Amino acid sequence: MSARAGIVVTGTEVLTGRVQDRNGPWLADQLLELGVELAHVTICGDRPADIDAQLRFLAAEGVDLIITSGGLGPTADDVTVATVAEFCGRDLVLDDALEERIAGILRRLIGNRAGVDFAAVMTANRKQAMVPEGAEVLDPVGTAPGVVVPGTPTVVVLPGPPRELQPMWPRALATAAVQEAIAGRTVYRQETIRMFGLPESGLAETLRIGEAGIDGFDRMEITTCLRRGELEIVTRYEPADAAIYDQLVELLRTHHGAEMFSTDGALIDDQVAELLAGRTIATAESCTAGMIAARLTDRAGSSAYVAGGVVSYSNDAKAELLGVDPALIASHGAVSEPVAEAMAAGALARFGADTAVATTGIAGPGGGSAEKPVGTVCFSVRLGDGTTMTKTLLLPGDRSDVRERSTTVAMHLLRSVLSRAATPSRGS
Ligand code: ATP
Ligand code: MG
Repeated sequence: MSARAGIVVTGTEVLTGRVQDRNGPWLADQLLELGVELAHVTICGDRPADIDAQLRFLAAEGVDLIITSGGLGPTADDVTVATVAEFCGRDLVLDDALEERIAGILRRLIGNRAGVDFAAVMTANRKQAMVPEGAEVLDPVGTAPGVVVPGTPTVVVLPGPPRELQPMWPRALATAAVQEAIAGRTVYRQETIRMFGLPESGLAETLRIGEAGIDGFDRMEITTCLRRGELEIVTRYEPADAAIYDQLVELLRTHHGAEMFSTDGALIDDQVAELLAGRTIATAESCTAGMIAARLTDRAGSSAYVAGGVVSYSNDAKAELLGVDPALIASHGAVSEPVAEAMAAGALARFGADTAVATTGIAGPGGGSAEKPVGTVCFSVRLGDGTTMTKTLLLPGDRSDVRERSTTVAMHLLRSVLSRAATPSRGS
């Protein structure tokens, strides 16, 4: 048993790339969570013939459920409901009660605005109250109602604007027709493991060991994704196979314990935020120029632990704002571990914080040398009790890669130092 679905994203603006599709990926995620296998996401323009072709294609592929997005508005180029009705062999009929509800919504929207001919607006909107015979109506979030047309496949028709489509999806899901269409779905568990500093090839090698040594390993559906130096490993499995998943986790822990930083899906930013509870942090940034501060303050409630930061891009700024000794810069260079350490110490003192992080590096494309090529970045984390961790890395990629990766490295260094630190010690 299984349930398969297809998604038809309509709209010339999406087809041409003027608007980036947000409905296909969002619905894909919903289906994944439900255990419905997604066979295809197709994108087509607003023409009835093109929409019809997509519906035919998916039906021929034998999907149980088709979801469409877009083309439910009152204007002539909005043709999805009529096209779906014809595809399903159903007449369009006026739903009087629905027409009344739409009239009510429009009355509230338009009110007594001068110069608006309400009767004309209603005539244009009558089209939106025409539904395929026997379809279930999904009440509008905007003005456009959706419909669920039962059959093989069942077709769910949703509006284009994501803020309308998303709240209407649970209503569609609750209908008897959709429940029946996805009855064959497999309920999966999904777990996420995150690693940092491990190349994909290293993981692939370990997974081959698992394949050879763990019974039923092939029943795990494992997808890996490398982003900003972090490896995300998402595993889906049937609840009965939980013991196999546990073996997978053990295997990964044995081989990559040092790189594995999250087994519950938590992001590095979540972990750092948690570790900073009861502390105050200050940043001293050269090559990342505020990106670490921005990342730390991305979360609500960060004012509880973020004191502030200094963007000390020039040598003068490093000296004047952070008290870095110009002689240190002269003898070691601005991109050096002693300077990174002095920057962290300076930020700690300047803000009266108990945790500080500093970066200084060469993001490129210019400024590199044989000794310090582009991508060389020095990091230092310092705590109020004097605990210091300093590192120099050579990061790959272009300027924006180096800066972004540096920000992530800084977060991991913070985690590493803070998770070993005892209770916060105030001041320095
Ligand atoms: P409306 O009543 O607003 O016309 P509609 O259901 O007819 O709604 P469309 O005409 O297809 O929807 O799209 C209206 C707008 O919604 C688009 O201009 C676009 O801004 C947004 N939109 C539509 N489809 C998508 C999509 N797949 N991803 C992101 N935004 C979308
Ligand atoms: Mg429209």
